[in-house]
Amino acid sequence: MLEAIAAHARRDSPQECCGLLIGSDTEVIEAVATANIAQDPRRRYEVAPAEHFAQIRRCRDERSPDGTPLRVMGVYHSHPHSDPVPSPTDLEQAFEEFLYLIAGPAEPPGAMTIRGYRLRAGAFEVVELMEASIDDR
Ligand SMILES: [Zn+2]
Repeated sequence: MLEAIAAHARRDSPQECCGLLIGSDTEVIEAVATANIAQDPRRRYEVAPAEHFAQIRRCRDERSPDGTPLRVMGVYHSHPHSDPVPSPTDLEQAFEEFLYLIAGPAEPPGAMTIRGYRLRAGAFEVVELMEASIDDR
């Protein structure tokens, strides 16, 4: 899943990529790539609402392999040229209960890291388990 996110980030660079995280409360099962419909996709990301609704519908019908209900539990996006640290815009757009994965920088090759964050009391806190280095040189 992390490799899929990293590949998406590289593919869409220099634009930001984005996608939805499907899973249970404790586990991400799938990262679904979506279109970035932001007006300025080099600096912002916005998941296409139709794709978001489609995944919500899908989660009503499917269950995880261990039988727990699925939900859209987070979102990922990339920072083409900067570290995977939430920007002020990322903070503005965030809401609690969602897991945020950020991949960056997409350039140059080999430097990308993916980190996880959650919003708590108005600030992002790092989700340690979601950090992974990607070396795809
Ligand atoms: Zn960002």
